[in-house]
Amino acid sequence: MKKVLVLEDEANIRSFVVINLKRAGYEAIEAETGMQALEQLRRNPDIRVALLDIMLPDIDGFEVCRRIRAGNPKIGIIMLTARTQEMDKVTGLMTGADDYVTKPFSPAELTARIDALYRRIGGGDEVESGELRQDPFLLNTRKRTLEKDGKRIKLTQVEYALMKMFMDNPGKALSREEILDMVWGRDYFGELKIVDVNIRRLRIKIEDDPTSPVYITTVWGYGYKWGF
Ligand code: CA
Repeated sequence: MKKVLVLEDEANIRSFVVINLKRAGYEAIEAETGMQALEQLRRNPDIRVALLDIMLPDIDGFEVCRRIRAGNPKIGIIMLTARTQEMDKVTGLMTGADDYVTKPFSPAELTARIDALYRRIGGGDEVESGELRQDPFLLNTRKRTLEKDGKRIKLTQVEYALMKMFMDNPGKALSREEILDMVWGRDYFGELKIVDVNIRRLRIKIEDDPTSPVYITTVWGYGYKWGF
């Protein structure tokens, strides 16, 4: 059974989420506090996706996200953000989340996001093997790892998918809509901004100077291009 961690301190929201996950075929592992969530992840290493509320009684959802990411770059993380807290989305993505869902959300929206994340994590490129080299980068598509000048750069699944997309399309200007389709999937109904935030995060990891990027360059009013 596909396990999803549900971190939410409000019991009624948590049970609403859990019931709908079960209906969609997932096993929900519940946590009420940040520390409980980290403990559940230790006990259930097969959890592939985590839903993290932000306002919690102990450590906040961003800190939980940071701590999960420090040990596990592969798990999918969706932040549950409040409508009024626009900054939450950006902060959440910068701390390593893959996606966010704004409260109040419909069960259909939430499960669509989880399904999409599961598909991305599952890959679909198992048949692929080998290495994609564009100096100074080396992408191993079997191990899903990235090296720059021989040094491993830890990537989340979304960042890996972005790198793969860029390295498959050198020199081509890609619109933000195209990027959203390629990395998040056509059935994703989030905002284009998620592209910018994830690229900002990826730049911090791969560029020598993220403030004047040379690998991922901006195509003004359109999207991005894999440099050179
Ligand atoms: Ca809360």
